[in-house]
Amino acid sequence: MRVLIDKKDIGFFFESLKEENTVYGVKQKEPGFYVFDEAETFSDPLDKYTPTLLPPKKYLFPQKETLLKFSTTPSLKVKQLIEFKKQVIFGVRPCDIHGIKLLDKVFTTDHEDKNYTQKRANTIIIGIDCMKPCYKYAYCESVGCLDVEDGFDVLLTDMGDCFYALIGTAQGEAIIRKNARFINANKSDDEKIKCMKEERRGLFENKFATDISNLPLLFKNADNDPVWDELNDRCLGCGRCNIVCPTCYCFDVFDCVDLNMSSGERCRQWDACTLKDFAVVATGENFRSTRGQRLRHRFNRKFNYLMTKHNTSFCVGCGRCSRSCPVKIDVVETVNAVVNNRKTK
Ligand code: SF4
Ligand code: SF4
Repeated sequence: MRVLIDKKDIGFFFESLKEENTVYGVKQKEPGFYVFDEAETFSDPLDKYTPTLLPPKKYLFPQKETLLKFSTTPSLKVKQLIEFKKQVIFGVRPCDIHGIKLLDKVFTTDHEDKNYTQKRANTIIIGIDCMKPCYKYAYCESVGCLDVEDGFDVLLTDMGDCFYALIGTAQGEAIIRKNARFINANKSDDEKIKCMKEERRGLFENKFATDISNLPLLFKNADNDPVWDELNDRCLGCGRCNIVCPTCYCFDVFDCVDLNMSSGERCRQWDACTLKDFAVVATGENFRSTRGQRLRHRFNRKFNYLMTKHNTSFCVGCGRCSRSCPVKIDVVETVNAVVNNRKTK
């Protein structure tokens, strides 16, 4: 099903979703910088949009959450905590929808992570298509994430006076029927959308120098590439690139014991593989003690290990890490340096 929603009615749609859900939308934090936050009104910046500082994964996999509470007196009691609420994330771009799809895989493969899956099951995703490169760091086209076919409930495309709304799920259809004023789209609208999407091809100048499918083998053979020594000297080991990434999902688990020493809670908190202590084990050994080793690991996670396991890139090309890095370490430059160094071998 696909429908048209007049732009003057998008506020009505947004408002009516708030009747049964907490609605998060995109807000400008300061000129040029955007965040997802609880929103009163529809405020997606559309053409002026650059990826939010943090991706919307924070509503599905919070930076810190309590997993269980425990007490030891008079007898041991453990209570699992899984918190969720009905929520809508409004204005999710295709790269971030791909990011959520990857987290869906991670948190359901081998073992279901109910703290994630319960939040995900209660979340409605309203996407907004991108009609041009949003900023110089984006390379979503290179990793196959410019377009998205599922993972959303509704995907809006800006057609000027109205939004073309592609419905992705039964839940999406239900909220459109209940909450939106719309008319059905016709074949000429479908054609117009197809042409608009075709016109974007080739607009992305930031791209990999090889097809994404070549990357797992390339990185597998690049353990001794000189690029890791160069990055070792530049990287600060600050972890920012991990924290802003929509597909990074590592976390640390720790117990906070109350002063009475008989109760407390077990929490998890985002961790970052570029931090110095990430790979320290009980004996004190650190398997990745240098910054170059840790960055090599991070690139292998995105383009080799997880890509091989799940058969898809684990980078969605949002460019957040390149934008956030204080010493301007750039993913595309790094991948292309590895590609070129392999060619000269
Ligand atoms: S590695 Fe960088 S560009 Fe890729 S998804 Fe993560 S933050 Fe975005
Ligand atoms: S943001 Fe840059 S400096 Fe910080 S850990 Fe990542 S690559 Fe290194």
